[in-house]
Amino acid sequence: MARLLTRRFLWKCVHFTTMVRCVTGPETTAQRQLQRTLYLINPREQTAGYYGLDVIESWAGVRGVTNLVDLTTPTVAALVPEGWQVEICDERIQPVDFDHRAAVVGLTGKVSQRSRMIELAGEFRRRGKLVVAGGPYVSLNPSDLAAHADIVVEGEIEEIAGGLFDDIAAGTWRASYTGTRPDLTLSPPPRWDLYPLRGGLAAQVQTSRGCPFECEFCDVIQYLGRKQRWKEPVQVVEELEMLYAAGFRDILLADDNLTVMRRRARALLEAIREWNDRRPGERVRFSSQLSVDIARDRPMLDLAAAAGLRMVFVGVETPNEASLAETMKRQNLHVDLVEEVTKIVNAGIMVVSGMMVGFDNDDEGIFERQLDFAARLPVPLITPSLLVAPHATPLYARLEKEGRLVEGALDYIGAGNMFRTNIVPRQMSRETLEDGARRLLLHLYRPAVVLDRLRRFVENSPTRPEPRPRPFFAGPVENALARGLMRLGDRDEPALLGYLHETTARRPEMRAQLQYFFLQYCQTRHNIEQLKRQAPVSPAMA
Ligand code: SF4
Repeated sequence: MARLLTRRFLWKCVHFTTMVRCVTGPETTAQRQLQRTLYLINPREQTAGYYGLDVIESWAGVRGVTNLVDLTTPTVAALVPEGWQVEICDERIQPVDFDHRAAVVGLTGKVSQRSRMIELAGEFRRRGKLVVAGGPYVSLNPSDLAAHADIVVEGEIEEIAGGLFDDIAAGTWRASYTGTRPDLTLSPPPRWDLYPLRGGLAAQVQTSRGCPFECEFCDVIQYLGRKQRWKEPVQVVEELEMLYAAGFRDILLADDNLTVMRRRARALLEAIREWNDRRPGERVRFSSQLSVDIARDRPMLDLAAAAGLRMVFVGVETPNEASLAETMKRQNLHVDLVEEVTKIVNAGIMVVSGMMVGFDNDDEGIFERQLDFAARLPVPLITPSLLVAPHATPLYARLEKEGRLVEGALDYIGAGNMFRTNIVPRQMSRETLEDGARRLLLHLYRPAVVLDRLRRFVENSPTRPEPRPRPFFAGPVENALARGLMRLGDRDEPALLGYLHETTARRPEMRAQLQYFFLQYCQTRHNIEQLKRQAPVSPAMA
């Protein structure tokens, strides 16, 4: 990780010969020149959540690092017509320039970025800029941002981008635009040449959009649809080439469900395996999101592992079958979830498991059931969360009808708000649910409990040859994080750190997965300390 960090900081300039195109053209008037300047911003999130990296700043004093580069801003930049000048700002990496000369400011964001989007929209409108807001949150709840931006763009922008930017340049823009479900085989590669790549530990390539399942709480299928659309393998490989040339060796395949359409997934993974096998130096390690039904397809798992897939997020959610049925998570039903997850780990792929509480079929016993369940999973990283109802989902509509939505709780539904919810649970009070979820997190992340799960993960992972063995604590950032953990004062922390060190020496092929675990574990322990400060917990809970 430290090597990765150093490489990112040293990274200055990469020539993307296949992707750079000139977007500045001859302008006819000073007025048009002013209009055709766009400042695209990915705002910071309200709170870091499981996948933030503020622990690196807090414990290691390193600023401007994010675990994952943003994909939306360079994707939109690639769709801006010729003749425009575009600049990108990712606020997690660099400060926003409020004096930027651009006439038009574009804001994107998920619900977890809502407050900051509104703040930035206000600041830039006060400075006379035209503010355009889009992205996942606006697509789910356009009326919320309509009051704060000049233009809202709902849905996917690919097929309407030309018209939108032409209207802006001509001064004939409307207050709202609605996107389509574009054909991804026509998508241009993202403009990574405009993005501050030096601040990202891992990059992203999106190979498909949409998921055929219909989980009641899922917002993704509301704005991307249930009919999955795909890029061609050759497009994916072209994007991988760019990011490899920029120095990335960790890449998220940013799909909603990478392998659900088996035939297509096979063709894609074969192309990626072939490409990865031809890398002159270090191979790329991939991560993605899958549904648990992949466990029934061992050849697909083996192909994914051979392509370089090393980590996946799986929404395992709950051992409570009644809750899975209620939320229409049918792919998790009628199987032994521990066995299914173990099969994925057996193929050499680390699982990060989503875990949810607060379904109508959950009573106060659910917290104990989840703890017992977690204790059997070979999964070191578990992300417990509360059921929330995002806008535009069937869950939101149902609970609204039942009068079970909490007024004024818009900010509670972001991924960063780990222990607040906008729903009124059926079998317990909201306070009991929020408190129980907090206790669940505290227990799941006791070092001794994590060490048990970590051991189970290592024992269930296959051995592989590793041509470049390296020690676990190889750089100043890892060492600073280890010291940060020790300062928390848990007597079992040294055993966990010792296990990481010893396992990396014994199983060098697992180093990258263990490093990923370590970073996210530190982030979660850091989150817990902040949570305790915000809402003190009783000694029994801590
Ligand atoms: S499997 Fe995941 S992406 Fe698909 S509908 Fe369910 S929650 Fe959404």
